[in-house]
This record gives sequence, structure tokens and C-alpha cells, in this order.
Amino acid sequence: MIEVEGIVVKNTPFRDNDAMVTILSENRLVPFLARGVMKPTSKNASSVQIHTKGRYVLYNGKEGLFLKNAELIQTYPHAKQTLTCLTSLGFLCEINIKLLVDEDTSRVYPFYCKALELLEKEFDPLTVNIIYLAQVLKAIGYGLNVDECQLCHRRGPIAVVDYRAGGFICPNCFDGQELPPNNSTKLKIIRYIFKVDLERFGQAVLPKAESIEVLKELFDFVKDHTTVDLKSFSLIEKILKLD
Ligand SMILES: [Zn+2]
Repeated sequence: MIEVEGIVVKNTPFRDNDAMVTILSENRLVPFLARGVMKPTSKNASSVQIHTKGRYVLYNGKEGLFLKNAELIQTYPHAKQTLTCLTSLGFLCEINIKLLVDEDTSRVYPFYCKALELLEKEFDPLTVNIIYLAQVLKAIGYGLNVDECQLCHRRGPIAVVDYRAGGFICPNCFDGQELPPNNSTKLKIIRYIFKVDLERFGQAVLPKAESIEVLKELFDFVKDHTTVDLKSFSLIEKILKLD
């Protein structure tokens, strides 16, 4: 028997009244079978809803883990009321399900809890999305080097970010003709989202237009460097632009 705290990132109805549930826990993604939870009378039904935090008692069965009982911790009701927040919750879930398979989640779990708390308090969804994506990339070994020039390792002025090289490039190593538009604001955003700690996460709202551009670049970076295609990206991009 294991007892684990986590947040539901996937809930797929299965057979008649069962559901296949995946939670993001303090250590890893944990999939389990929740029997009978689709029945309206099930005492565990509310705890296995998507974007719900709970404490889950699981047993080892022949087909893997199954749920014995669950205790509800938080349902984030406000975050589920606006389209932007709801779409953000979906985007964060897709990041978790696709990028954290077989990964140690101990560094990102506190950020995920904080992300949901911030959305619940109506904090800027774009800032939440972009910081969480950066923190997940960092945790799985795709963090960008934002402390020095990635090529010559000198600390000092930075010219551009080079996603393919894996970080910032100094003016000496930069071989391009001219700097990209909105460059200095974007460099500041990129440094901030990879360096921010849990305490400062939620203290500053990032500039919108440049952050959407950076989010798009990170999405392309994920697509180019992994086999992962974040399908909810185009929807979140559209909604954030309208917001
Ligand atoms: Zn350099």
C-alpha cells in the first residue's frame, strides 16, 4: 500500500464505472485504476477529477496500482471559471503528461502546486504558463544556459539566445548581422523564467507580447529537440493573444 499526495493530470473513463487516473506526485507521475468512480454515489469521485489535489491510498494489484480511497485537498474552483485559466490548466496538464514520463518530478511539483494556486487567485495565466514550461524543461535537462555565453562561457553582455546551442550567446560569439526584434526584453524574460525560484514565482507579471513570442519559441524548441508536440499550444496562444 502506498499513500501519495498529488494533482490529477489525467482522468480517462474506463469500462462501465471506472477511470484510469494519473496524478503528478512529489516524485513522479503515478497512474492508477480508480474503480467505481464514475458512479454518482462514489465517495472518491470528486478526488479523481482533473486539476484536483488530493491524498491517495493505492494498492498494488495484478494490473498495476488501484485506488483504495482518496482525500480531497483542493479543487481550484476559480481557476476553472474563465476560459483563459481553464485552457492554461489544460496546457499545463499536457506539459506534465508528455514531458514528465519516467522523470523525477520532485523539483517541478512545488512549481505545479504554486501554478494552480496562482491561477486560482487570478494571477496572469501567461506568466504562469511560461514559467512552468521553463521549469519543466530545466528539470528534464533541457534548461537553457542563461548565466553566461554558451559558447565561450564568458559572463557579461549577451547578444541573443540560441535555442539550438542551448543558451545565451555573447556579442563576440554572435555571427549574425543584426539582432532580432524585441531582443533585450525577450532576453530578460528568458533569464527570469529559468532562474525564478518558488518564492518569486507570482511576484511579477511578464510583458505580454514578448512573452507570447518566447512561449512560441519554447514550443518550437520542445518540438525540435524532443518527440513531443504540445497540441494545446495553438489554442493557448490564440486565447492569450485575445485576453
Ligand atoms: Zn561568447
